[in-house]
Amino acid sequence: MRLLVVGGGITGLAAAWEAVRGDGSRPPAEVVVVEADARLGGKLRTETSDGLLVEHGPDSFVAYRPAALTLIDELGLSDQVISISGVRTVYLHARGRLRPLPAGMGMVLPTRLWPFVTTGILSPLDKLRACLDLLLPRQLRDGDDVSIGGFLRSRLGSGIVQRFADPMVGGIYGAGVDELSLDAVLPSLRADEAKHRSLMLASLANGRTARGSARGANSPFRTLAGGLGSLVDALAEHLTAAGVDLRTGVGVRSLRPTAGGGADAGFTDGTTGSFDAVVLAAGVTGSAELLADAAPAAAAALGRVPLASSTVVTLAYPADAFAAPVTTHGWLEAEPAPISGVTVSSAKWAGRAPSDVVLIRAFVPGRLGAIAAAPDAELVPAVTGHIRRVLGARRPHSSVRVARWPGMMPKYTVGHLSRVAEVEAGLAHLPSWRVAGSPLRGVGVPDCVADGRRQAALALGPTPGS
Ligand SMILES: Cc1cc2nc3c(=O)[nH]c(=O)nc-3n(C[C@H](O)[C@H](O)[C@H](O)COP(=O)(O)OP(=O)(O)OC[C@H]3O[C@@H](n4cnc5c(N)ncnc54)[C@H](O)[C@@H]3O)c2cc1C
Repeated sequence: MRLLVVGGGITGLAAAWEAVRGDGSRPPAEVVVVEADARLGGKLRTETSDGLLVEHGPDSFVAYRPAALTLIDELGLSDQVISISGVRTVYLHARGRLRPLPAGMGMVLPTRLWPFVTTGILSPLDKLRACLDLLLPRQLRDGDDVSIGGFLRSRLGSGIVQRFADPMVGGIYGAGVDELSLDAVLPSLRADEAKHRSLMLASLANGRTARGSARGANSPFRTLAGGLGSLVDALAEHLTAAGVDLRTGVGVRSLRPTAGGGADAGFTDGTTGSFDAVVLAAGVTGSAELLADAAPAAAAALGRVPLASSTVVTLAYPADAFAAPVTTHGWLEAEPAPISGVTVSSAKWAGRAPSDVVLIRAFVPGRLGAIAAAPDAELVPAVTGHIRRVLGARRPHSSVRVARWPGMMPKYTVGHLSRVAEVEAGLAHLPSWRVAGSPLRGVGVPDCVADGRRQAALALGPTPGS
């Protein structure tokens, strides 16, 4: 079987790895990966210079979705996996200062009551309103997807939405909770309401179970000592050794179905190729364009997945620019600000900067409006001015890097699961063509790895005769 993988981000590389390894019943495929950019990795981009390790895209992944750790293990990199340094200290910038997230705070709801009752992040009125959830009847009807923000507001009031849900969930998904789909992003909330009626009661019960099983004590975040770019390097090395044809700087321009259900591909360098199966791991726009002729309904549904932009501003400061050592791992903004949050990479991870440097990553999602689209000359002073006010920097930063990701983050808005179903139905006549990666079934690195592998296996199909 000859497999074409379109896109050399983490999804495409994971798909190629799955295909070339075989799975015992399926023999290794002959694989060509085509990446339009000059480098592999897509959004995984690690820069090492001036003694700094700068992540321009993702800087870590969650361990409770095992696909990334499994892949890392298969590549022989397990000894490179690192957890956060020291104790996890998450703050919200709310009501004028940095305030620690209440102990036992989940993504949206408290799993312990007392720290929630005593936190200064919410006003007494917000807390009272949240407690109304204990009395309210069920709000959700079967079958209707709703926004996370709308659902939470109806049960818990707007305080919890503005100060917890929007910064925490919106920060990960690059979109406001008022547009994000409950069923695609936080389906557990629907299950919690169905089972316990009250979300607070459900969360407290979940907290008791987690404490009983000693889960949740440690941070779930992991990365690699050499940054996530080292995962891309290791994959490239193993794939090359396994005979995969990795082409960079060449795009796929067209795909045409063959009589046998495969694809004839045209490349931007003028060459062509014939394949038995295709994994489209080229993001929303890249994959939708290539499906337009062969599967117009799938292309249209995919094209309706909205996209967010994001900018990462990485700043290095001399450590003595701050009156006190910067030990926080970062914070999320719970009120209007020119950024949505900050990671202090030098405090959070080992080996990101020399000991006399504080390395900070600030996020400017497109949803913040004009500031996100402003040129560096406006953006950087707005970001540094805010950081100076929050952390009390007395001296300017010594270096800055700006990474812009325009229209590249799929947003799982209300109705997302219907769009996924439409893409799948629109491709039903081409079972060896699969769309993989962040556009449909999870934006996190482990989701992309898992989906890349699964879609490669599905594209290659069952072994003849098995
Ligand atoms: C700033 C930022 C921070 C993030 N932080 C985290 C984090 O901390 N943890 C986490 O788990 N996730 C994080 N994510 C999400 C995660 O990085 C992405 O969802 C994931 O990397 C997407 O991988 P992918 O391979 O599906 O897509 P991409 O990385 O976008 O790769 C798609 C590739 O396809 C190529 N392509 C497009 N069209 C064609 C064509 N016609 N021919 C050939 N090639 C083509 C593109 O050049 C691109 O390289 C973050 C994302 C961003 C932007």
